[in-house]
Amino acid sequence: MSVGPSNEPTFRQSVDLMYNRAVSLMDLPPGLEEKIRVCNATYTVRFGVRLRGQIQTFTGYRSVHSEHMEPVKGGIRFAPEVNQDEVEALAALMTYKCALVEAPFGGSKGGLCVDPRKYDDHELEQITRRFAYELIKRDLIHPSQNVPAPDMGTGEREMAWMADQYARMNTTDINARACVTGKPLNAGGISGRVEATGRGVQYALREFFRHPADVAAAKMDGSLDGKRVIVQGLGNVGYHAAKFLSEEDGAKVIGIIERDGALFDPEGLNVEKVRDWIVKHGGVSGFPDANHGADGAKVLEEDCDILIPAALEGVINLSNAHNIKAKLIIEAANGPVTAGADDILRAKGVVIIPDMYANAGGVTVSYFEWVKNLSHIRFGRMQRRQEEARHQLVVDELERLDEAMGDAWSLTPSFKERYLRGADELELVRSGLDDTMRIAYQSMRQVWHGRSDVTDLRTAAYIVAIERVASSYRAKGL
Ligand code: GLU
Repeated sequence: MSVGPSNEPTFRQSVDLMYNRAVSLMDLPPGLEEKIRVCNATYTVRFGVRLRGQIQTFTGYRSVHSEHMEPVKGGIRFAPEVNQDEVEALAALMTYKCALVEAPFGGSKGGLCVDPRKYDDHELEQITRRFAYELIKRDLIHPSQNVPAPDMGTGEREMAWMADQYARMNTTDINARACVTGKPLNAGGISGRVEATGRGVQYALREFFRHPADVAAAKMDGSLDGKRVIVQGLGNVGYHAAKFLSEEDGAKVIGIIERDGALFDPEGLNVEKVRDWIVKHGGVSGFPDANHGADGAKVLEEDCDILIPAALEGVINLSNAHNIKAKLIIEAANGPVTAGADDILRAKGVVIIPDMYANAGGVTVSYFEWVKNLSHIRFGRMQRRQEEARHQLVVDELERLDEAMGDAWSLTPSFKERYLRGADELELVRSGLDDTMRIAYQSMRQVWHGRSDVTDLRTAAYIVAIERVASSYRAKGL
């Protein structure tokens, strides 16, 4: 689904060009470079569902990019324009993303050509279950082989249907729940998965702003406080990122671009109010407190500090890259900047925090969910209230020991503090995600600043990721 001009490469070619750029700076054994680049397999399915008295045929895909680690992992999107080139590009990005954040998965992605807004809940359930059935039959949904998750147009509800479909077809599999992630809490999900990708964008930006040299490279200084942000797409990812950045870090969201138009207000928009409006009215049109007549394409090019494309691929392309005024772009979506636009922006000195890192919060928390499902235990101290009496004994004991031990006390204050508060699952998930985002940023940053031939974060991210995939192939053979 390339939205750029026709002289633009396809999404898949764009990812390959970026990959090639990184590989040209590496010393991979002959052949391995090609092996890692190519998609291992893409399965296409066409199936019929009887809806409103008529059989309708749907086309869906599941692409497996790399099986250097299994299961392979990646979302399933529902959108009318889904195609093979797109799912292959997205599957490749999943391989690199998982390697970069050290989630022990290979890369995969799926898609179904459907406009979910055109069907009611019952119809969507029939369509989703039928698609899942086709994938399950071929082990393309399986706890140890291939574990889908939500993406554009899908969410907890679709994951619950898929997981249930798997469980029906595999009644003796004790690990059935681990066959997809992003499930609702009451169907084996984990706290904090819905917000995870947006939360990851926030943690990525916080980490970026901890490094004054990086902030200076983007021609800014100081912290996130007061920074002007424009976000494209107020779906699950864009909404959470914009909400957390404005409510918790003092960033000012001055522009919001949606399918049907855009809002722009240099004084700052109230993200929660805009989201409520979109949920009620299906778009931003008519939103009372801002200039709602604004043109989305124009708002993307407005002056701002941070631009967050959180919608489709290819939205920053050869036709508009020259006009982008943001100093920093953080790719909450997958592939929002085409390879050609990337060249232009790099030459202009715009810093880009690349998709494979920026939106890795989703798969990171998916990993926690998968581990939780496989371990069959609760995460965190979720029974705190029921355990109140025992908890108080432990607290008393900790206080007594604390006094007796003085400086020799070996537990870190943060552990004790966390224990005393009774850290729950959500807190553990968030802190695990924060650690992951910090560590992955530092691994990219080391390459960015440590090598004179690497001048951007995207190339650095590819180098780190490809190196990890390559060493996994080296260790186990092809
Ligand atoms: N669809 C998300 C992505 O593109 C999440 C994938 C997952 O959790 O497996 O990263």
